[in-house]
Amino acid sequence: PILQRHAWRADRLVQILREVQEAVDFISDETAAHLAEALKIPYAQVHSTRDFYAFFYRENRGRYRVLFSDNITDRMAGNQALFEHMSKRLKLEPGKVSDDGLVSIDYCSCTGMCDQGPAILVNNRAITRMTLRRVDEICDLIRGQVPLDKWPAEFFRVDDNIRRADMLLGTPHEPGKAVRAAIARGRDGMLAEMKLSNLRGRGGAGFTTAVKWEACRNAPATPRYIVCNADEGEPGTFKDRVLLQSYAGRVFEGMVIAAYTVGASHGFLYLRGEYLYLLQPLEAYLAGMRAAGLLGRDIGGVAGFDFDIEIHLGAGAYVCGEETALIESLEGKAGRPRVRPPFPVTSGYMGKPTVVNNVETLCKVTEIALHGGTWYEAIGTKQSTGTKILSVAGDCARPGLYEYAFGVRIAQVLEDCGAQDAIAVQVSGASGVCLSEREFGRRIAFEDVPTAGSFMIFGKQRDLFEVARNFAHFFAHESCGFCTPCRVGTVLMKEIMDKIADGRGTQYEMNELLRLQQVLKPGSHCGLGQTAGNAVADTVQKFRPAYERRLAETDFVPAFDLDAALSRARELAGRDDAAAHLGEEA
Ligand code: SF4
Repeated sequence: PILQRHAWRADRLVQILREVQEAVDFISDETAAHLAEALKIPYAQVHSTRDFYAFFYRENRGRYRVLFSDNITDRMAGNQALFEHMSKRLKLEPGKVSDDGLVSIDYCSCTGMCDQGPAILVNNRAITRMTLRRVDEICDLIRGQVPLDKWPAEFFRVDDNIRRADMLLGTPHEPGKAVRAAIARGRDGMLAEMKLSNLRGRGGAGFTTAVKWEACRNAPATPRYIVCNADEGEPGTFKDRVLLQSYAGRVFEGMVIAAYTVGASHGFLYLRGEYLYLLQPLEAYLAGMRAAGLLGRDIGGVAGFDFDIEIHLGAGAYVCGEETALIESLEGKAGRPRVRPPFPVTSGYMGKPTVVNNVETLCKVTEIALHGGTWYEAIGTKQSTGTKILSVAGDCARPGLYEYAFGVRIAQVLEDCGAQDAIAVQVSGASGVCLSEREFGRRIAFEDVPTAGSFMIFGKQRDLFEVARNFAHFFAHESCGFCTPCRVGTVLMKEIMDKIADGRGTQYEMNELLRLQQVLKPGSHCGLGQTAGNAVADTVQKFRPAYERRLAETDFVPAFDLDAALSRARELAGRDDAAAHLGEEA
């Protein structure tokens, strides 16, 4: 029935694998071979797609698969102590399945719950506000083999935590009004308003939305596609989660308006796998839009304006936030970034013209349809029009969403969220920029500090070396392995950070870190590798004492400790005198 539901379409492979795993807990080689045969695609394609995504398993990982979110904000909230407690209670080793095949426990990358962490995923369902008590309750439920849908609903509560609302978060949504306004303006009129607005993408890169739309509209091939990038994986970011949970109408109507303007007939919402809990409500919302005539045929009474949206779920790959990797994933493949050009606007999904816009960007489109580009352009700064939503987390009294007109100073955000003793702010996630106290007068804007929305605050008790080390581990884990500078460079960076953490780093390692950044930035194929060294380079420069106090007082210490490696041999030989050790004297 799973294959039937997906019409035996190979481009649905990621969705098929997800549903198969839900049904049988893991995807064995035999299952993969069966799928390849049924879908009439090479076994290697099923194999490589399965093995690419962190949330697909080739072996049994238990009926309950527990993953602890391991963003730096989860660590600051005590996730490691909770992890150890659960491991002990369930008698588990990290990454291994219990002897009875019931449960496994491990870490995963940021789950987008930083304002209410520490968080975990159990079979991809998010559980927030973890405490020792909650760990005990979950252990009892697992041991009692209680099905997940019988667990207390409170465990799965995800709050919006909207702390400061402006034109997007503070305005009630009237279903259909923005779509009707866009249709009244006409296709050319709507594109003209988009140009006037100077709206720039909210996913991080800040590309002008109207330029993207116009290029897609002018591309001769059909059909055209609209893709909403809801693969919000940047550590510390959770604004799209709230927009999809409580402002879904704006996101979907933004897609309808984009489709109307560029002449697209089909849309995809690519939802990150960590937000599985949103799938059902979003499907229900789409059904309501179909019933109201906002999706389907002749939308808004415009003859021939046919458009519908389907939801694809990701499976735990940060790199799929990159638009061409996302398109590969939509086509049922491993999410590896494509070589560009050609760009998606001319050759995207299935080689056809495709617009990929971020969730927040599409919400902004509805505002422009309603009020016009000139109105929108008057808000914010010259090169950064409108408002920006920040996902604020870390050392502050009131974590959550804050919406400001572009141009707000870092110090203002810190004051509003109750961060009194901040020494650093990591803006735009692990790939962004680390600002020290001296830079708190800077502004959130493309002209100064651009951001996709993540705003992580570190108080004076924090060790910025450990913050950068967490990010180095993140990138080594998330590199897709396609290009050598990133595949090797991110692992080397992680290992050097670990060596320094062990007290075996020297000035040589400090120089190596900066040298690696010089290789990663220009040499990597996509944004992941190009930005992977940012946090390390920033903290080396701005928080150097956090590194230097760990350095050994020699010029070089080898990464491999030969003397320690010989301890087993000494044990077997029954001697541990000075001559049995490698040292200066030996
Ligand atoms: Fe993959 Fe990293 Fe290369 Fe991007 S930079 S293509 S993530 S290996």
